[in-house]
Amino acid sequence: MDEYDVVVVGGGPAGLQAALTLGRMHRSVLLLDAGCYRNDPADLMHNFITHDGRPPAELRAMARAELATYATVEVRDSAALSVQPDGEHYSVGTETGPVGARRVVLATGVRDTLPDKPGLAGLFGTVAAHCPFCHGHEYAGTPVGVLGSHAHVGRVAAMLAPIASEIVVLADGGELDDANRAQLASIGASVRDEVVAGFCPTSLGARATFADGPDVELGGVMVGTTFEQSAPFAADLGLTLLASGCIEVDAFARTSRPGVYAAGDLAHTAQLPMPMASVLGAAAAGQSAAIACVADLLELDHGVLAPA
Ligand SMILES: Cc1cc2nc3c(=O)[nH]c(=O)nc-3n(C[C@H](O)[C@H](O)[C@H](O)COP(=O)(O)OP(=O)(O)OC[C@H]3O[C@@H](n4cnc5c(N)ncnc54)[C@H](O)[C@@H]3O)c2cc1C
Repeated sequence: MDEYDVVVVGGGPAGLQAALTLGRMHRSVLLLDAGCYRNDPADLMHNFITHDGRPPAELRAMARAELATYATVEVRDSAALSVQPDGEHYSVGTETGPVGARRVVLATGVRDTLPDKPGLAGLFGTVAAHCPFCHGHEYAGTPVGVLGSHAHVGRVAAMLAPIASEIVVLADGGELDDANRAQLASIGASVRDEVVAGFCPTSLGARATFADGPDVELGGVMVGTTFEQSAPFAADLGLTLLASGCIEVDAFARTSRPGVYAAGDLAHTAQLPMPMASVLGAAAAGQSAAIACVADLLELDHGVLAPA
């Protein structure tokens, strides 16, 4: 069985950066990538210096090209099937059999579920978005809808207020609480209380239709998603999870299990309520995980102490 210093599971920004950092330190690395990425629905990514407005697939292709110049990095377009302890090391199941891993970086990300509204999925990633930092400026000067009646509706609306020509909250039959109503009043947002029947694309962006009342024309729609781990490995390994469903890590991306690191959207520290989900943030976490792996291996092999 082949054994690598580190097996990186996941080929999004977190895993790609982890592999780059490890490759630069001449550590043997296997990166496994199942080929599904959180930002697959998005045509362009934003809010990353030098890459603002770049297609996500182009960023990954550039990263792959960089990895190809490092002799100790191997990238396979295939899924990890399992991650199991094997003595002090780990065994990672792959489509061509198990490989050994002295250390493992989990970077498998999360997957989103949208509210069940006809037409919404087809707009997600362009006209509809869940993160104002990623997709918000693109709707500048147009009416923007904020779908839902959850606790953060007023906050999301207030973030969009300086960007949009007007904010329309689509409460979808839900009850807005007093705090939300006060925030919305302070920015002059309007509220449509009726149940949203669905969305269809238009030249401006999207048309929202309702169970009753007139349609609303929108340049963009902000929508909250629920998310869950993309892969079962955190549960399989019994890693400590946070209330968000993400893996608890420290500043060095260490999980509750020695030798297993987690980076990207699937993990965050206990100080945060949820991951700071962004391409740049994921890449930064991947770098931290890789640095921690190097420190860990130095301690194992040469007694050089890792940071506390
Ligand atoms: C619609 C949308 C638009 C977005 N736009 C932006 C934006 O404009 N700017 C921005 O900064 N952020 C944006 N984001 C957030 C950004 O996509 C994430 O923060 C980022 O992709 C997280 O990187 P990651 O490496 O943690 O996970 P991902 O990019 O999701 O990568 C996960 C990796 O794990 C792999 N994987 C999963 N299971 C397995 C397995 N069993 N074996 C092997 N590999 C596996 C996948 O194939 C993939 O390679 C957007 C998100 C969404 C949903």
